[in-house]
Amino acid sequence: MRLEVFGSDGGIGNPLRTLALLVDDDILVEAGSGLGELPLERLVRIDHVFVSHSHLDHIACLPLLIDAVAARRDTPVVVHATQETIASLREHVFNWSIWPDFTALPTPERPALTFEPLDLGKSVDLGGRLFTALPARHAVPTVGFLLDSGRASLAYSADTSTCDELWRTLNQVENLAHVIVETSYDDSLMDLTIKAGHLSPTLLAAELAKLERPARVHIAHMKSGLADTILREVERLALPHQPAHLARGQVLEF
Ligand SMILES: [Zn+2]
Ligand SMILES: [Zn+2]
Repeated sequence: MRLEVFGSDGGIGNPLRTLALLVDDDILVEAGSGLGELPLERLVRIDHVFVSHSHLDHIACLPLLIDAVAARRDTPVVVHATQETIASLREHVFNWSIWPDFTALPTPERPALTFEPLDLGKSVDLGGRLFTALPARHAVPTVGFLLDSGRASLAYSADTSTCDELWRTLNQVENLAHVIVETSYDDSLMDLTIKAGHLSPTLLAAELAKLERPARVHIAHMKSGLADTILREVERLALPHQPAHLARGQVLEF
């Protein structure tokens, strides 16, 4: 599998883009503002979108994606998310007020968008590429994702605070090669970090101490203006996994 990073940040302010990870041209993980970087002909080829939770930085471009491609596709874009996230998207976004309900457009029989509920731990098989929801702990119901090509696996934490279950699950993944993990705030904002359900460098260190596998660790979801401080603090901690910034434009093959 080939994962291309179009957005990896937790906020905006050029050159920042919120999370949008394109897998093999046809699958998108998160629909943040980075999605707006793709030309229309590449947007049209996205068949599946995995959304971790309902927060705006992860779904901001989802309504615009569906609108942009609706007339150019024969099949619906399938959005995979938990029941709770789907309910939020239906109630608060695709509600005819914020945006049209594309599950009924252009016709209910041939809609531009369908929702597919995800269950924790149950895999979705897309042509031999397995997508499995991972446990996360955040301000709203959230899941991370495990992407397994058969050869190797990549884990994406989504937004999470301390979550023992996540690391317990990843320690069972024998072919784990990459872990993308959030670090939203620097350590001076510890109170906010905990209240908002995120990680700071010190909390990240405690989480990575639970990971018993030698994976490459990539840091994502840093909030606007905090990247330099966060990365400096992470470097000072001299963590064994040597986490590196997941940069826009980066490609991970696994
Ligand atoms: Zn969030
Ligand atoms: Zn977020």
